Amino acid sequence: MSNQPFVIKAHPDDNVAVVPQAEGLLPDTRLNNGVVTKAYIPMGHKVALVAFAKNAPIVRYGQIIGYANEAIEQGAWISERNMTLPQAPDLDRIVYQPVRPSGTFAAKAKLNEYSFQGYKNKDGSVGTKNVLGITNSVQCVAGLTDYIVDKVKRELLPKFPNVDDAVGLQHAYGCGVAIHAPAAIVPIRTIQNIAVNPNFGGEVMVLGLGCEKLRPERIVPDNEQGASITYMQDPAFEGFGEMVAGIMQTAEQHLKKLNQRKREPCPISDLVVGMQCGGSDAFSGITANPSAGFASDLIVQAGGSVLFSEVTEVRDAVHLLIPRAANEKVAQALLREMKWYDDYLAQGQADRSANPSPGNKKGGLSTIVEKALGSIAKSGTSPIVDVIGPGEKLRTKGLNFAATPASDFVCGTLQLAAGMNMHVFMTGRGTPYGLSMVPVIKVGSNSSLSKRWFDLIDLDAGKIATGEKTIAEMGWGLFELILKVASGEVTVASDRLGLHNDLVLFNPGPLT
Ligand code: CA
Repeated sequence: MSNQPFVIKAHPDDNVAVVPQAEGLLPDTRLNNGVVTKAYIPMGHKVALVAFAKNAPIVRYGQIIGYANEAIEQGAWISERNMTLPQAPDLDRIVYQPVRPSGTFAAKAKLNEYSFQGYKNKDGSVGTKNVLGITNSVQCVAGLTDYIVDKVKRELLPKFPNVDDAVGLQHAYGCGVAIHAPAAIVPIRTIQNIAVNPNFGGEVMVLGLGCEKLRPERIVPDNEQGASITYMQDPAFEGFGEMVAGIMQTAEQHLKKLNQRKREPCPISDLVVGMQCGGSDAFSGITANPSAGFASDLIVQAGGSVLFSEVTEVRDAVHLLIPRAANEKVAQALLREMKWYDDYLAQGQADRSANPSPGNKKGGLSTIVEKALGSIAKSGTSPIVDVIGPGEKLRTKGLNFAATPASDFVCGTLQLAAGMNMHVFMTGRGTPYGLSMVPVIKVGSNSSLSKRWFDLIDLDAGKIATGEKTIAEMGWGLFELILKVASGEVTVASDRLGLHNDLVLFNPGPLT
């Protein structure tokens, strides 16, 4: 076996390959495939396996990720500087031609051996944490919510040992907005659906002001008996002290009920796993995301649900996803969400090239096409059974496309609204992303990051690039880790360190 350095091809048809060595490759390095490097090529970046004429297609994942904007020598460093972006797939010309996934990953009997310990709710959903969620109808009361959450944590939580946490579900909506504009449905249903996320056990607690446009009653589900609403402007309260005392009393009632929740064995079909990536690099698509895709297939085969999202990171690979739609209706819904987002970006005079960040590019991702091809790997190979709009709740078990922006915090917020009870987050550059409402497993795409951030990353998928693990081994490992975290047996890094991001609403509607 050659001890010359190797590079990683994602697909047999690729004419570029990715440098896995943490220190990069020096010029004049002879690779084990015979190619000699012509320049220094950093980790995660692409080496030309062939010589390219100007305008020749550059192929990765078996797909064209760009065109050479000049003649490129074999062994040269390929980055966004020497390529141009291909056209996005024309949504009007994509025809639904279904393919059925052929691969089976696990025997049904083997999957049936797995379960997790969750909190069963009256509405049939299952929590993985036991949390008092305190939402509000308007941003005016965000300061009060902070005050209450802090006081509940200090004074009440110690009396209710079965409750994990109290969290504020603050947002910047509720008034000063065109509440009847068609797009207002997105933030409103997001706020409504987050309040009934399975981890809050149906104990909906709403703090309102009293004069806001978004009426607190709208946030409470129709059939919810135990929900409570407190208005700051309630004339019964004289001064802040009385308001706080009233709200603390209400909080105590909810905590008493939450404290009675107990973990019980639950089947995988009760899992709703939100998959997301952020701070991606060129490894994301060959290590972390395919492992997530493998785990996703296992969950779906066992009857569970997986959400994948991030419209702008799916748009350029949508032609590969349409054939996986379970039926024509799902295919049309997927195309409709892509079109809606194209128009949304056009209104803001932006286009898809706005997506890759400077960090993505430094990590070797040259174009949005390359990023998208790596991004969709986390959806695995299962059929897509439904498409849900931003802020909508999951309707159908199985693999769902939840149409959300790619922004980490907006996507996470919308996946929470969809009913996610576990979150898996892939990163290559490194981000401390975390949510207090749901456990977030962070998967590192390369070992250099995972080692440096040993206490921030939960799983090192970079071992696939170094040859220490296969995608299947890593995928099974992630699947088992999801169950342990969902059961409360393993605490993820973001919860251990208390690193939690704020919710960020997606509001495509106008302000007033
Ligand atoms: Ca993201």
